Amino acid sequence: MDLPEEMLISFAVGPGRMSLEGTGIPDPGDGILLKVAYCGICGSDRRQLLSRREGEKNTMGHEVVGEVVATPGTEELQGRMVGVAPRIGCGGCSPCSRGLPNLCKNTMIIGYQVLGGFSQYMAIPPEAIGGGNIVPLPGGIDPILGVLAEPLSCVINGLELSGPGKGDSILVYGAGPMGQMFTIMSGEITRDICVVEPDRSRREFAISHGATEAFTPGSREIPEADTIIVACSSERAYEEAIERAPAGARVNLFGGLSDGIEINSNLIHYRQLTVHGTSGSTPEQFAGAMEALVRIPELREIITDTVGFQALEDTVLSGPPGGGLHLKSVLDPWL
Ligand SMILES: [Zn+2]
Ligand SMILES: [Zn+2]
Repeated sequence: MDLPEEMLISFAVGPGRMSLEGTGIPDPGDGILLKVAYCGICGSDRRQLLSRREGEKNTMGHEVVGEVVATPGTEELQGRMVGVAPRIGCGGCSPCSRGLPNLCKNTMIIGYQVLGGFSQYMAIPPEAIGGGNIVPLPGGIDPILGVLAEPLSCVINGLELSGPGKGDSILVYGAGPMGQMFTIMSGEITRDICVVEPDRSRREFAISHGATEAFTPGSREIPEADTIIVACSSERAYEEAIERAPAGARVNLFGGLSDGIEINSNLIHYRQLTVHGTSGSTPEQFAGAMEALVRIPELREIITDTVGFQALEDTVLSGPPGGGLHLKSVLDPWL
């Protein structure tokens, strides 16, 4: 394939600031060169950009779909449209040997330690091939849908860890893209799903995508549930989820916080709560997410906005332009 001399790449260059540069195409060495088709924009990109120190330069973007344009390593991937599970395990540490490369002690994460997908081309390190991180898109699916594989794989990890049983009641705090995916995926387990969300259009979306009820935060009507998932970065939601959890409930602190909160451990002890977190996902869960995208077509409705580089910084910081319902925004680096 003929490659251009130059490409556009965006850098996070300081707290809340990004820049767009023209550079040469990266050399993937023994890894893979990907022509980025789309890259999802995630709430964690906002947190990463705001906490960036002056002069620290990085390319964010970990929800990548692209075409393999050079593979010195594995010829069978040449020309394939693939998604990339962003956490590349070392294969040797104790979490890796327990099958948890998402918790690797020496992890390389695309969009963090490895230059990410807010770029026209990107180099994927060879360890990603051996680690099973490169997952071809299932035949027939629209490539843009592939950006959902990463966040969806984290939802799958969260549900596997929380382990709700058939017909259990599930309460989801937050109806952003992650909360909506929890709602839709929980629909395969139960019909008893309640959502807590301040934004009316997001509550309505959740109701039309499998939630039985939706309430504003703090409402007295919020029911008790067997499994409670905090799918938003809200300290208040963390507190409420634990304070209101009924005896024997499982609470998944799924959404990350900039600073943690203090918890009264007696609430957990005397009510025999199971409180746990979820961090990322494994390549197997990523592949499972690709299958779910084929099995559950309504997941595509989570993607509400596509932006080019010119709107990237604003979209990362405060969402895409225009009113109405915004869930997952996607960068098209060729717009
Ligand atoms: Zn993400
Ligand atoms: Zn490791």
